[in-house]
Amino acid sequence: MSAQIFPVPTEVASRALVDDAKYQEMYDRSVKDPDGFWGDHGKRIDWFKPYTKVKNVSYDPHNVSIKWYEDGTLNAAYNCIDRHLEKRGDQTAIIWEGDDPADDAKITYRDLHGHVCRLANVLKARGVKKGDRVCIYMPMIPEAAYAMLACARIGAVHSIVFGGFSPDALAGRIQDSDCVAVITSDEGLRGGKKVPLKANADEALANCPSVKTCVVVKRTGSAINWVDNRDIWYHEATEAASADCPCEEMNAEDPLFILYTSGSTGKPKGVLHTTGGYMVYASMTHEYVFDYHDGDVYWCTADVGWVTGHSYIVYGPLANGAISLMFEGVPSYPDASRFWQVCDKHQVNTFYTAPTAIRALMREGNAPVEKCKLDSLRLLGSVGEPINPEAWIWYYEVVGKKRCPIVDTWWQTETGGILITPLPGATALKPGSATRPFFGVQPEIVDGEGKVLDGATEGNLCISESWPGQMRTVYGDHERFVQTYFTTYPGKYFTGDGCRRDEDGYYWITGRVDDVINVSGHRMGTAEVESALVLHKDVAEAAVVGAPHDIKGQGIYAYVTLNVGVEPTDALKKELVQWVRHEIGPIASPDWLQWAPGLPKTRSGKIMRRILRKIAEDEFSNLGDTSTLADPGVVDNLIDQRQNRK
Ligand code: ATP
Ligand code: MG
Repeated sequence: MSAQIFPVPTEVASRALVDDAKYQEMYDRSVKDPDGFWGDHGKRIDWFKPYTKVKNVSYDPHNVSIKWYEDGTLNAAYNCIDRHLEKRGDQTAIIWEGDDPADDAKITYRDLHGHVCRLANVLKARGVKKGDRVCIYMPMIPEAAYAMLACARIGAVHSIVFGGFSPDALAGRIQDSDCVAVITSDEGLRGGKKVPLKANADEALANCPSVKTCVVVKRTGSAINWVDNRDIWYHEATEAASADCPCEEMNAEDPLFILYTSGSTGKPKGVLHTTGGYMVYASMTHEYVFDYHDGDVYWCTADVGWVTGHSYIVYGPLANGAISLMFEGVPSYPDASRFWQVCDKHQVNTFYTAPTAIRALMREGNAPVEKCKLDSLRLLGSVGEPINPEAWIWYYEVVGKKRCPIVDTWWQTETGGILITPLPGATALKPGSATRPFFGVQPEIVDGEGKVLDGATEGNLCISESWPGQMRTVYGDHERFVQTYFTTYPGKYFTGDGCRRDEDGYYWITGRVDDVINVSGHRMGTAEVESALVLHKDVAEAAVVGAPHDIKGQGIYAYVTLNVGVEPTDALKKELVQWVRHEIGPIASPDWLQWAPGLPKTRSGKIMRRILRKIAEDEFSNLGDTSTLADPGVVDNLIDQRQNRK
């Protein structure tokens, strides 16, 4: 659909770390000589004891074992803080922008060191030790980053649970990993609304006997319930603690964190990442993908509750001594101009967000963007879902003023860092394509039987060799790890995503494999049909799933959200079906089209197609795990208005 190509702008090329020739040379070495390549690049971080071994990996389904730098020792907090103190102690590490535009702060690397050491000492004094799990349930305030780094400093394993999750979801995650402590705040603040974090934590902790300590940051000052001997105020405890805390010496393969996946496809998995390979991979991808240079102001809008916040707000940027912006609020508060105002206010150079935010802002029209200058922007990024070419073009033209390349970064909680992505100085862009693999990443497209397909093709996306940032296991359930990722196509890591490779070797993620639709024998990615719908001027968002069809086997069922102010009429319905027919072909024309005032999304903003599939199948009595749904109310409306009643 989108054959348009955007070459690397000269201005971008002239300052870039890597041009196309360099990319090819580095990529070739990374796959031909992974030990040499990763052995050299492993030195980008500081080791207490250097490694002598680099890669030791088996994808054999009977013995899946992934180790990188296995005899080296290091500490992640040391790499994010201490090693920068001499050269850039007084440089800003974190720019914090509050929910209220009047609230902000700058934290230097030296400040960061003090905060992290004090909290680390508080945890130690409460008996938290190396290997213990600590749950972090926080709003987007600097203390969330301090908490992560304090855990890393003493060798405790953090498990962040997004602040939007319910007490039940929180309790389930705390129990699954037997956390000994929780770090939270009295309340969170998002879009002017208070979020009762401590009250939620209290409710969860009633069912979590393993938790002995609850550290509470005062954010709003509202009255909260207090449990003596368990609860301690962050500000009181840290004030009394020493600002000096040595770093625990960690083995490269000691766990750094557990993080539950967003649950788009089922019960969330407790993804476990270890220290050495993760730090090398997160910092290296951050530097190369965002072409990070000293002094750049870099803003990733994710929440630290998602992997993107782990790798690209905290660990990657801070390991690189970067200036990382952290935002407490939401894109629509006080108004739809907020993201762009923040870009101007802090002179942001790199802006990294998700398609769901881009589509929501696009729906508001160009005026909120055009109110702002945005002349500091140099690079834009996207992550989380396939970005529809229509949204890509809007982002490129209206936000980036046709000056800023967009890095469409494909990766997963499981991968620890970005796997398929353009590099700004090296890769010509095609809207909607994540383009090419990062160094060391070897994508393979296989058919249903596991046969590797060559050249321009489409199928299931696997990765044939390990990379340092790969997850090591599902916490407490290695068997589930093996079953989920290594048995479908033995000898390879299976991503669960569908993918197309074009004549230029560019990769296009077509959606989850479960979501691939088979209409009269033709395989079709949901992403393609959705992109066609979104291309229509009246459509804000669309989600497409397959549903049983008497003649075709599977038919196409489309849920469509219209732009603000557009009337949902039967005529428009017909027009949209015709539109898709025209854009892709008769084979893709929707058999059912339902107006959706809202779509079911995970808390991280991803469309939950598995729920839409159930509704389309008229089988909505068992919707599966819906604990990660952001707004359960939208589901009732969709069930009520379903088009495929038996
Ligand atoms: P669960 O695994 O629990 O179902 P999830 O897959 O949504 O949840 P994440 O790890 O947050 O959890 O998301 C990774 C998935 O997001 C990828 O497998 C892919 O489907 C999608 N994704 C991420 N980035 C991109 C991108 N740039 N283009 C297309 N899809 C993307
Ligand atoms: Mg997943």
